[in-house]
Amino acid sequence: MAPRYDIVSQGEELLAGQAVDTNAPWISGELQGLGLRPGRVTVVGDELASIRRVLEESAQRAAVVVCTGGLGPTSDDLTRDAAAAAFGVPLEQSPEALAQIEQRYRTRSRPMPPTNRVQALLPRGAELLENRMGTAPGFVWDTGSCLLFFLPGVPFEMRPMLVEHILPRLRGRFALAPRKTVLLRCVSLAESLAGERMAGFERPGVTVGYRASFPEVQVKLHVEAGLDAAALTEEARERLGSQHVFGVGTGPLASVVGGLLRARGETVATAESCTAGRIAADLTEEAGASDYFRGGIVAYANSAKVEVCGVHAALIEQHGAVSEAVARALAEGVRARLGSDWGLAVTGIAGPGGGTAEKPVGTLHLACAGPSGTEHSCVRLPYDRLRNLSVSVALALDLLRQALLRQT
Ligand code: ATP
Ligand code: MG
Repeated sequence: MAPRYDIVSQGEELLAGQAVDTNAPWISGELQGLGLRPGRVTVVGDELASIRRVLEESAQRAAVVVCTGGLGPTSDDLTRDAAAAAFGVPLEQSPEALAQIEQRYRTRSRPMPPTNRVQALLPRGAELLENRMGTAPGFVWDTGSCLLFFLPGVPFEMRPMLVEHILPRLRGRFALAPRKTVLLRCVSLAESLAGERMAGFERPGVTVGYRASFPEVQVKLHVEAGLDAAALTEEARERLGSQHVFGVGTGPLASVVGGLLRARGETVATAESCTAGRIAADLTEEAGASDYFRGGIVAYANSAKVEVCGVHAALIEQHGAVSEAVARALAEGVRARLGSDWGLAVTGIAGPGGGTAEKPVGTLHLACAGPSGTEHSCVRLPYDRLRNLSVSVALALDLLRQALLRQT
């Protein structure tokens, strides 16, 4: 079994919800990539006894502990005191740490405030870790069965210290099997369904993680070295349903669709009613989108659908603006008017108002017009307005993606 790590995120603002702990997830990713196993993440406030207790517990439970925060010069920075208490040693001035702090002030031509001398105090016997980006040095304590690392809380100081000092040391200390992480990005697939389909996939050396980033679901395979990651990826893709997996280790859906268009030298134009330009915005998030994006029309009012997109008014009268016929006419109209290879259109009722018995809130018609005809789909979305809109964008992009894949 791989050795286990604990993370301690120190800071009253993290505990109180005034700041979000971004250190723990980042550190966790790095340590898992190295082949360590996650144990426990603890957020602890500015209370000496609590910090001490957490450190003592984690040193008992884990082979590695990374603690961030509380190394500054102010009275609420208590981590070094808590560490000294936990290890049963006094704090001692480290001449080397003091020299580093003084040097940082000298290179910035600023006098060192006397309070900063506190930052040169380390638990006696601790090893210093240099902080190139700030004044608070870090330190390491080795209990024999556990290595504890103490780093400043500021992310851009902490990160290089972890990469430069900690990762190499852990590689030297443990015989680790580094893991490969494969990210499968899925659309039109509920997280619970992804979980069901992946049930039983885990095996020795392979773990599976999920992340729902609505309306996308990401499935992560963590694969130990020596196993066939490509074959496992293929197996996972099949289980999830290969049509749902829009990318493996790729960017977001819109950039995958953009890539498909670019590879074919083709273009798309959009006509959006309810999503009001969100599809166009997604398609143009990446630089160079003009290679494949012709333009988009926000056809909100019926008159805009008629006058700008060329939808026959009679069609709207007969079927209503939210209908298969109008979605198709929008896609075909914008394709013709903007001279693109593909036309993508949505019309729907995002809510909360505007629904009828026949066309309830959430009704969405999508159409994709292309070189060999027009495809349509209709769904009924169950979410609130904003979620309905973001799902609509994903479904529209996916309709185009599926059409592009079928063209090959
Ligand atoms: P400093 O010398 O800057 O005081 P420090 O080690 O004492 O360093 P903290 O005072 O705990 O660090 O945190 C400094 C700042 O770093 C916080 O205000 C916060 O913005 C950021 N920070 C601290 N911990 C975290 C964390 N876990 N995740 C994200 N940001 C953090
Ligand atoms: Mg501080």
